[in-house]
Amino acid sequence: MTDAAAYFSHLECSVPCGAGPYDARGRHHLCTCGAPLLARYDLAAARQWPRQSLRDREPSMWRYRELMPVFAGESPVTLGEGFTPLLHARTLGQRLGLPRLYIKDESLNPTNSFKARGQSAAITRAKGLGVVTVSVPSAGNAGNAMAAYAARAGLAAKVFLPRDVKTPFARECVLYGADVTLVDGLITDAARLAAERGGPLGWYDVSTLKEPYRIEGKKTMGYELAEQLDWTYPDWIVYPTGGGTGMVGMWKAFDEMERIGWMTPQRRPRMVSVQATGCQPIVRAFEHGDERAAMWEGAATVADGLRVPRAIGDFLILRAVRESGGTAVAVPDADMVDGMIEIGSTEGVSAAPEGGAALAAIRRLVRDGSIKPDESVVLFNTGGALKYLDAVAGR
Ligand SMILES: *Cc1c(COP(=O)(O)O)cnc(C)c1O
Repeated sequence: MTDAAAYFSHLECSVPCGAGPYDARGRHHLCTCGAPLLARYDLAAARQWPRQSLRDREPSMWRYRELMPVFAGESPVTLGEGFTPLLHARTLGQRLGLPRLYIKDESLNPTNSFKARGQSAAITRAKGLGVVTVSVPSAGNAGNAMAAYAARAGLAAKVFLPRDVKTPFARECVLYGADVTLVDGLITDAARLAAERGGPLGWYDVSTLKEPYRIEGKKTMGYELAEQLDWTYPDWIVYPTGGGTGMVGMWKAFDEMERIGWMTPQRRPRMVSVQATGCQPIVRAFEHGDERAAMWEGAATVADGLRVPRAIGDFLILRAVRESGGTAVAVPDADMVDGMIEIGSTEGVSAAPEGGAALAAIRRLVRDGSIKPDESVVLFNTGGALKYLDAVAGR
């Protein structure tokens, strides 16, 4: 695979504000204007890359490596992430009146969540840049994935978690040899402390969208969906949203695939951003017609991945939802836990509360007539249930 072509060319402001472009071989975080940077590729040259070449490739996200942030001859830092199953959920679909309901089961990734995709890409790039120490503020899963890939790459890892994080998340970091700091407050407070400590020491910060490559790992979910649906789009993608890398990443993937000729520009999926009633900055901004999302005060939810009161890529999430003709939905915690059990008991899939939230959102959109019975719907189960089993205690 190391002899594959590489089309990674530069970094560009996501606004775009006009600054840059930024050198792909340099160490960059945000644009000078403060917005996230996005990796760009020579897509005109990539039209030479036929999708038939995927046929003999390994079943991981690196099967799309030509449009990943790696240079020719580089080896990715991988644990086999990606190419997760797209399961036809017949029993659950029957209950909902949706014969074409699918579950994209991201719980099967290393460290039990789709955060593995982002960290595989980020740590690959960090290693390529000669980084020694990586740091991340995390609600849980991102820290676990980062710790695992840092161990795999031989880098020192510093993880900053909210003090009230569920025990399995903190312990799993220890398992991979990471240095864990518990912080009073939320992920935003953890981010502040990580930057304060790490800045002077030159730690490489892999915070969501402050680092340009996690989104490149997450975008492979868009490539996979298209490939697994025989190069068609589903009608709906229902996605639990925290920092929004998955949402923004898939939207970017659709754009890239259309430009390299893998997909004919057609009606793209409607993107549904699912949040918790106890932390719904994107839903509120969507409903108010705002371009940016204000900080959500007093964020609280059982779904740790959704406990993100402010997202630096908020405008990119809102853009994707609106351009797609999608919507944003908030779900109470109790419905998420019901959803975990319903997914588990009907389909045998281990679902995190975030996955349960996606199910609750689908049910609501079917009831209000937004999702039609003949439409295809992909429920993103972004993580597994094991680290959240306390949530089902006594049920
Ligand atoms: C991080 C996380 C999310 C939110 O993901 P984003 O792409 O950052 O919006 C959803 N579910 C789980 C299980 C997570 O760990």
